[in-house]
This record gives sequence, C-alpha cells and structure tokens, in this order.
Amino acid sequence: MIKTNIKDMLATYDKKNLTIGTVCSHSSLQIFNGAKKEGLKTLGISVGEKKKFYDAFPLGKPDEFYIVDKYRDIARFSEEFREKNVILIPHGSFVEYLGAENFLHLQIPTFGNRNVLSWESDRNKERLWLEGAGLTMPKEIKNPKDITKPVIVKYHGAKGGKGFFIAKTYEEFKKRVDESKSYTIQEFVMGTRYYIHFFYSPIRKDAYELSKGSLQLLSMDRRDETTIDEVQRLGSIQELEELGIHPTFVVTGNIPIVMRESLLSKVFKMGEEVVEKSIELFGGVIGSFCLETVVTENLEFKVFEISARIVAGTNPYISGSPYSELIQPNLSTGRRIAQEIKYGAEKNLLSEILS
Ligand code: ATP
Repeated sequence: MIKTNIKDMLATYDKKNLTIGTVCSHSSLQIFNGAKKEGLKTLGISVGEKKKFYDAFPLGKPDEFYIVDKYRDIARFSEEFREKNVILIPHGSFVEYLGAENFLHLQIPTFGNRNVLSWESDRNKERLWLEGAGLTMPKEIKNPKDITKPVIVKYHGAKGGKGFFIAKTYEEFKKRVDESKSYTIQEFVMGTRYYIHFFYSPIRKDAYELSKGSLQLLSMDRRDETTIDEVQRLGSIQELEELGIHPTFVVTGNIPIVMRESLLSKVFKMGEEVVEKSIELFGGVIGSFCLETVVTENLEFKVFEISARIVAGTNPYISGSPYSELIQPNLSTGRRIAQEIKYGAEKNLLSEILS
C-alpha cells in the first residue's frame, strides 16, 4: 500500500510552476522532451555520474541535473524536490533499480498509482488481474513433468528476459533449470508479438470512454531481443542447442510497428477490461501502461505481461506514432504525461493522477 498522503505533499506546491523529474535512463529523453514541449521545467536525476550524451540532445536534456551515488539517495532530496514542485515520472528502470518498497516510501509526488506495484510484480496477482479482466494468458505449467509442448521458463524478478529459456521436454528443462531461483513455466505461445502502449486518464472524457475517464492507444512496438531474434543467422535453434548455444531474451532495442486495423476493436476491449478491473482491485492503473501480447494464427491475443508505466517501447515515437498522430500531431507518451499533469493542475485534480 502507498505510504504517502498525496494531498499533504501537494499542499505546498505552486501548481503553475511544476517541474517534471525522472531518472536519466530508459525513456527519460522522451519524458524531458515531452515536458519541454508542454512548457514545463525538467530535472534529471543521474545515478553515479552525469551522462555526457545528454549534451548532444538539447531538446531531450533536462534543465537541471542532480547526481546521486545510488538510487536510494533520491529520498534524501525529498524536501528539496518538493520545494521545486517536482513531480517524478516513474519508468521501468527507475522502479526496478530503486526497488518497489523504497519507491512506495518516496515522499515526493509521483505520476500514476503506486498501488499497482504489488499487482504487477507478483506473477500470481498479475494473473488474477488480467484473467479477472477476461484476457487470455499463456497457460501455466505447474509441474515440469507435464511439459509436452515448448515452454518458456521465467525466473522471478529477472527483468528484461535475463536467464529465461525455452524447453521442449522435461529432460531439456531439467538440464537447464537453476533450482536455486524461483521460476514460472509458461506455454511458449507461437505467433507475432505486439507491445501495446495505452494511456488511461481518470480525469478526461475526450477519448474511448470508460466508466470513469477515458482510454487512448498511443503506439505499439516490438522488442528486439538478443539472441533469439537473430539466432537463425547462425543455423536452426535445434542445431545450435546441440552445440550448447541457447537463445536468450535480453532486450536491446525497440522496433516500431502497426497492427492490422481490424484488430483494433479487440485491442481497445482488452485495454478497457484491464482498466475497469484495476479500478475495482486497487483504484486504477493510471497513465501509461503496456500490454505485452502474442497474436496467434487465429488472430487471438495472448497477454503474457503488463507493464504499468511508460515503457521503453514508446521511444521510437518522440514525434508521434501512426496512432497518436490521429489524436494530435507530435504526441509522444512523454508529452501525453506532461499534458495530463498540466490539465490536472489547471483543474485542481492532481491528487487523482499522482500518488
Ligand atoms: P519486462 O519486465 O522487461 O517486460 P520480463 O523479464 O518480465 O520483462 P517477459 O516480458 O515476461 O519478461 O518476457 C521476456 C520475453 O520473452 C518477451 O518479450 C517475449 O519475447 C518472450 N516471451 C515471454 N513470454 C512468452 C510466452 N508465453 N510465449 C512466447 N514468448 C514469450
């Protein structure tokens, strides 16, 4: 549960003079660029050292840098950040490296609902949420002896697909598994991957209307994962496995993509159900979220994961995507976040979108 009272934290804020802050990594260039486009101030938190490459991107460089030794030191600047009216935008790396518990305790307003964390990071609760919303997830195999078809083995807490492996039989599983770590075994879904970027606003009604607020589709991507996505250049997976070379799922980049238009009704229906269920379970997945899906040859979606904040897959779209262009020219997810914060400030609704 959230360990802060957002209304108390916002009490001293000058709502006409807000600063957008985030950790310099992941999608920060886009977040700063979006905030600048909306006329907001920006503050970058650099962990370890100031990253020189920001100088090469003046439109993505924050107005001000804070250098901290480690992520946990961010909390030491809480008062200073509040004096500067800072609103922090959590992204994947920010939450991952700071740690969920430390993030829950941060006494600085953050965009989105912190209560989503426990529902997203626990694979059992995530399944309750997504299946409860009527989505289809890949089957889970409880007993490895029941492996009769290709499966993907995922270690808990191993972000970015690190250490994941495919097994086609129990024997293959036994050979590869590291029993010292906890893991989940999932059916390996055959199909094409789409990582769909939504934006849910509980305070605006000018998009796909929900019971409270409305939903937008801003973009989608496909992740570029090494070595699985290029492994065939060296031979078939089977040949390579015989040589002891196993494919891995480490994300190295993101590729823009669009989906056949006839699937968009299903896409919005999934987004809608996920938001409605989240409102019921924990008060709503506010702002950006991403459904990670595989579309099968029967044009069915299987959702293997949800990320409840801005994902790096939105980065190809700093100047808009084929979907966000239909909302407003040059609309990135980073810019949409800044717009939501500006609108919340103008209408005195910030406590509905921050925590
Ligand atoms: P992140 O938190 O960064 O999203 P993660 O470590 O939780 O990543 P997943 O996103 O669950 O890992 O999986 C990593 C990759 O493995 C996916 O991007 C996808 O390519 C592949 N993958 C995951 N689950 C399945 C599945 N059931 N069937 C086929 N491929 C899958």
